[in-house]
Amino acid sequence: MDTAILWLRRDLRLSDHPALAAALEGADSVVPVFCLDPRLLHGRHRSGPRTQFLLESLQDLERGLEQRGSGLVVRHGEPERELPRLAQELRAARVHATADVSPLAVRRDRDVHAALDRAGIALHLHPGLFVADEPAAILTQSGSAYTVFTPFYRAWLRAPRRSPLPPPERLPELPSGIRREQVPRLEDLGLKQEVERPASGGQTAAERCAKAFLGERVNAYGSERDILGSGGSSGLSPYLHLGCLSARELESRLPLSTGAQQFRRQLCWRDFYAQLLRTFPANARSEHQRRYRGAIRWSRAQGDFEAWCRGRTGYPVVDAAMRQLLQEGWMHNRARLIVGSFLTKDLGIDWRWGERWFMRMLIDGDEANNNGNWQWIASVGVDPQPVPRRIYNPTRQQARFDPDGTFVRRYVPELAQVPAAYLAEPWTMPEHVQTQAGCRIGHDYPAPIVDHAQARRGAIERYRQAG
Ligand SMILES: Cc1cc2nc3c(=O)[nH]c(=O)nc-3n(C[C@H](O)[C@H](O)[C@H](O)COP(=O)(O)OP(=O)(O)OC[C@H]3O[C@@H](n4cnc5c(N)ncnc54)[C@H](O)[C@@H]3O)c2cc1C
Repeated sequence: MDTAILWLRRDLRLSDHPALAAALEGADSVVPVFCLDPRLLHGRHRSGPRTQFLLESLQDLERGLEQRGSGLVVRHGEPERELPRLAQELRAARVHATADVSPLAVRRDRDVHAALDRAGIALHLHPGLFVADEPAAILTQSGSAYTVFTPFYRAWLRAPRRSPLPPPERLPELPSGIRREQVPRLEDLGLKQEVERPASGGQTAAERCAKAFLGERVNAYGSERDILGSGGSSGLSPYLHLGCLSARELESRLPLSTGAQQFRRQLCWRDFYAQLLRTFPANARSEHQRRYRGAIRWSRAQGDFEAWCRGRTGYPVVDAAMRQLLQEGWMHNRARLIVGSFLTKDLGIDWRWGERWFMRMLIDGDEANNNGNWQWIASVGVDPQPVPRRIYNPTRQQARFDPDGTFVRRYVPELAQVPAAYLAEPWTMPEHVQTQAGCRIGHDYPAPIVDHAQARRGAIERYRQAG
């Protein structure tokens, strides 16, 4: 009897799953296993909200596997210990998994490979996480990695594509007597749900979300995606992060409209940042641009950071965005840019503090995307532009991307009755307007914690001195 193990990680789905297809090939029995790795659950990217999303995704996957005659095996512990043990128990000769890019994933796979090798068991890694099979193999003509997005995008468009695989109709039964622990509850893992109403995890929810987006909204993506509060983007990032949805399959389902092609370009950013972190793993902790490493004098003002985290900076668009994160464990891309610029440029706080807070709260928290984007907006990463180009004026951003105030009023209820003319700068409201709006500045809603124009000059000088 030939048994193969399918080691699941960030590929929690049944359709377009190359590792699953390879495991099924020639095997009489396939055992899908997920290891709850303490380094992931309790390491530096520990997150209650994202772990809850993961647990829901595992439950959904377990149902899908059971409907097809199989099941999910859950193990607690480091995979380099659990997998050889399970493989020996089952007399399995091969383990199949989907390749990943983060430094932790690469180190983990090396250790698992070595541990399995010692037991005479092979580890096979397959594509499946990105649109292009291997984003890090897309290289410039001189053979180096791309560090500017647009040329990468052109090469990415030309890179070969796999045909998406259909989900299997039936799967082999699990071997009898195999130990299968239940998918635990978040509390069992010593973690807390910190957000109020996050999206549900799993392939079923992912498919619902994808259908709703591809049905109609994708065609208006180009004009709507940047409007805060419009629902113009897909909301698919948490599902893509955990592989509840295949990025390649999603690409293959896109219509030919201009909006859909703009969406496809956005998917490319994900592959771009993946190849970047794979090629430059040191970016996980330090600035991609050498000249800025250890050179910027960052503020350590805890009070400012706390005000930013809690959405109490006195800048409505920043506060609405940060409260969206607290409520949903997700934030609109334009809002992420605005709050990223505000933290690093207006408050002068280290981008790594923002990166850490996002990784704690985001259900789509993804080391490659988060790190790449934080470095981008902090002007220390790839795709560089002069610093002033990435200092966003919160008042102007609000006027442009939340022109009718829908977003701000939704997440900052204290401002609900503030007249539109004052909504971006409520501190300019005369006393009697504050009274009429039921919003006294400094009492019901904070006065701005920083003056943007002054902070902008300070930021330019800080970067000038460092660089
Ligand atoms: C400071 C900052 C931190 C970020 N952290 C993360 C993160 O931890 N995880 C994450 O998935 N995205 C991150 N992003 C990128 C982006 O904000 C989200 O992917 C996007 O908001 C998700 O919403 P959506 O699915 O509706 O996106 P859509 O606009 O519908 O885009 C579709 C998909 O394309 C990908 N994508 C879109 N924009 C980007 C981008 N700029 N970089 C990389 N991929 C992109 C995502 O997978 C997204 O789901 C960050 C952006 C910034 C500015």
